[in-house]
Amino acid sequence: MIAEPGTTTVLITDDSLVIRAVVRSHLETAGYNVVEAVDGRAAIEHCQQTPPDVILLDIEMPGLDGYEVLAVLKADPLLTDLPVVFLTTLTDMDNVLRGLRGGAHDYLKKPFEPAELVARVAAAAHVKKLQDQLRLRNSELDLLSRTDVLTGLNNRRHLEWVLAHYHADSLRHHDPLSVLLLDIDHFKRVNDGFGHPAGDVVLTEFASRLRAELREGDVAGRWGGEEFLVVLPRTGSEGAFALAERLRLAIEATPMHADGVAISVTVSGGCALGPVGSVTELVGRADTLLYSAKGAGRNRIAVDSAVPSFAG
Ligand code: GH3
Ligand code: MG
Ligand code: MG
Ligand code: MG
Repeated sequence: MIAEPGTTTVLITDDSLVIRAVVRSHLETAGYNVVEAVDGRAAIEHCQQTPPDVILLDIEMPGLDGYEVLAVLKADPLLTDLPVVFLTTLTDMDNVLRGLRGGAHDYLKKPFEPAELVARVAAAAHVKKLQDQLRLRNSELDLLSRTDVLTGLNNRRHLEWVLAHYHADSLRHHDPLSVLLLDIDHFKRVNDGFGHPAGDVVLTEFASRLRAELREGDVAGRWGGEEFLVVLPRTGSEGAFALAERLRLAIEATPMHADGVAISVTVSGGCALGPVGSVTELVGRADTLLYSAKGAGRNRIAVDSAVPSFAG
C-alpha cells in the first residue's frame, strides 16, 4: 500500500521561485501537503521544527548546497530517516553517486515529468511510512519487554539492567546507591484465604502505592511473585529508609479491597547500601536484611549499616 498523499507533507527546497511553484502545483494536485524553503539553512530549520515526510532538495543553492544539507540531516538522529530526493540538473554519474552515498533516497532530473515527480515522491513517502510504523512497533515491543504484565511496573529483566547501570555509575562517581527489597508478609494467606485473583488485586494495589512513594530517579519493579525491588540512585541509607517507611505505613494503614472484601496486609523490607563488589552482592545483602526483618516479626524495614566500598 502506498501512503495516502493527504497525510504526507513534502518540503520543497529550491532557490528558484519558479521551480518551487511548479513542483508545489503538481504535488498539491496529487493531494500532498506542500511546504517550501528558499535555501539550505531554512530547510534544516524547518526539518528540525516540523519534520516533513519527504524533502525535495536542490543541489546548487546559495549558502549551503544540497550535499551539505543532506549531511546535516543524516547526522541528526531525529532526521536521519527523512527521505531526501534530489531535484537537480546535476545528474552526471559523479553527482548521482555522491548524493546516494551521502544517504539520498532518490534523484530526479530537472526538467522533470510531472508524473515521474509524483511517483518518486510517493515511493519516498511509502518508505517513510514503513519506517515510522517500524519505529512505533519497536518502541511498543521495547516497553512490553520490560514491563510486568500484572502490575505495570518494570519487570525483573529491566531491573537487572537498571541495577547494573546504576551500580557501575555509582562506582564511577563515588555516589551512594541504595537497593530496597520488599516482600509482602504472609502473602500465601491472602491467596489461601481470599483466592488467587484477590491476591493479584493486592499485588496491583501494592504496586500502585509503591509508585506513589517514588521520587524522580527512583526505579521500582516486580522482582518476583510478591517481592518488589527499588533502585535508589545517589541515595544513602537515610533516604532509602524514609521511602521504605512511608510505604510500609501506607500499606499498613489502609486495607486493600478485592471484590468488596477488605484485605489487610503488611510489608517487610531490606535496604542495602552500595556500591559494593557486585550487583549480586548488593541484592544479596538486601535479601539478607529482608530475611532479618521477617525474623524480627515482619512489618518492618531492616537497614544496612555497612559502609559502601568507595568510602575510606
Ligand atoms: P513471608 O511473610 O515469609 O514472606 O510469607 P509469604 O507467604 O508471603 O511467603 P512465600 O514466599 O512463602 O509465599 C509467597 C506466595 O506468593 C506464594 C505464591 O503462591 C504467591 N504468589 C507468587 N506470585 C503470585 C501472583 O502473581 N499472584 C498471586 N495471587 N500470588 C502469587
Ligand atoms: Mg538552485
Ligand atoms: Mg517472598
Ligand atoms: Mg512474602
